[in-house]
Amino acid sequence: MPLYDYKCANGHTFEARHGFNDPAPACPVCGEAQVQRLITSAPSVMQGMNANAGSGSSATKEQIQAKWAEETPKLREKLVSKLGEETVAKYGSSLNSNSD
Ligand SMILES: [Zn+2]
Repeated sequence: MPLYDYKCANGHTFEARHGFNDPAPACPVCGEAQVQRLITSAPSVMQGMNANAGSGSSATKEQIQAKWAEETPKLREKLVSKLGEETVAKYGSSLNSNSD
């Protein structure tokens, strides 16, 4: 796992090791959850993966919603093939976008 440098909203800097897609950890000094990743010595492969993410900020709300809208029907389909339409209709109402 890569090692990241962070700076919290209160000015503490710290290092944290975690997966690329994991959320940023809270500051270990003051517990501040608002931390900023400092891009220092990211491996080149990481920079490549991050190239089209611009400033390195996380996906926009629109991107997340678009992704969700794309993934939800697929997820439901998967569940239906696994559990059957009845079960999904009964328990999967949260996945069921108004497709009635
Ligand atoms: Zn802090």
